Amino acid sequence: MDRGRLNSSDIIVAVIRKIARSLSGETVKIMDFCGTHEHTIVYSGIRSLMPENVELVAGPGCPVCVTPAHYIDTVIDLALNGVRVYTYGDTYLLPGSAPPLSKKPRTLADAKAEGADVVIVYSLLEAIKHHRLHGGESVFLAVGFETTAPSTASAVVNGMVPDGMTILNVHRLTPPIMRYTFNKHRNSPIRGVIAPGHVSTILGAKAWEFIPKEYGIPTVVAGFEPNDVLTAIAYILAMLKTGRPGLVNQYKRAVKWEGNKKAQELVNKCCEIVDASWRGLGIVPESGLAFRDKYSSIDAVYQYGLEQLKRKEWKYDLPPGCRCAEVTLGLAKPTDCPLFMKTCKPGSPYGPCMVSSEGACSVWARFGGGGLVEEIVRDLGLD
Ligand code: SF4
Repeated sequence: MDRGRLNSSDIIVAVIRKIARSLSGETVKIMDFCGTHEHTIVYSGIRSLMPENVELVAGPGCPVCVTPAHYIDTVIDLALNGVRVYTYGDTYLLPGSAPPLSKKPRTLADAKAEGADVVIVYSLLEAIKHHRLHGGESVFLAVGFETTAPSTASAVVNGMVPDGMTILNVHRLTPPIMRYTFNKHRNSPIRGVIAPGHVSTILGAKAWEFIPKEYGIPTVVAGFEPNDVLTAIAYILAMLKTGRPGLVNQYKRAVKWEGNKKAQELVNKCCEIVDASWRGLGIVPESGLAFRDKYSSIDAVYQYGLEQLKRKEWKYDLPPGCRCAEVTLGLAKPTDCPLFMKTCKPGSPYGPCMVSSEGACSVWARFGGGGLVEEIVRDLGLD
């Protein structure tokens, strides 16, 4: 379809409402997988523009939120034992394991306050530069989905990681977590999926073909402008109406069907696919990356004997009362958590979904989950 015909949000919303009216039965739940989509939806008030029978729910697309607590405990222990830790800003504030394993979940920021050498970086390359200048022993906490894995792989395969530096590989894979979501909740109320645009630039749109094929759920790879998301919703509803679930690539300006083959080859050269733990969810089959044996010299798991990290299923990922596991699977909204904006706020996060700017709880806390209509009502003092 000519994109120009759907370039007005008014028209797209009208189309959404018209199709939604014609759908009978229960509320249509559409999962927006990616934290950036959730940001667009909340920031632009898209949720508040939906007809009553269409509900948008956030998915597991925040890599910081799903980084298991025992990985954070491990790098904190390394930091307190004299190893410099390089971390992204988000993971700096990510809490480790909950009581009874620790009195209070610790963060890398706490470790730094205790005198540990913790350095916030924007990229692995920045960490490499810093290590070359300062020497010593260091570890880089490599968190991220398929979008960031190629930069890790490039540095490793091209021999750029200097002596004394290792990488703790926490890269996670997104199609397996979607499969897990649908398998675990066979009666999943999700009837449509907005697939992640960033990840798809690497994996290709084809990575999501299994959702309509195996689960009969319409899926649209979408960009991040408000109209991209609205168009994706219209496509999903149209597929539901016709009873012909399929895969649509709405983000053709950035996503190819096959993705970025060079990046895929690089990651494959560097890493193997392994079962991996997700915060609050436990082990998800074939959902993580581990360095191949030939790169053991830069692998923190090998160098520090952290083999147990690979298969550990952890019960204390979430502090008491935190509902991040349900938020991650689209089974609860951030506002369903009684701690939301009480014990848990962006400035003082209690659970992992409040830490990163991509976490659903953080997005809702900063921009209001209700959307523009509620905000205008609030501004006018009518709430
Ligand atoms: S509001 Fe905080 S405690 Fe509640 S689910 Fe979200 S991150 Fe967890």
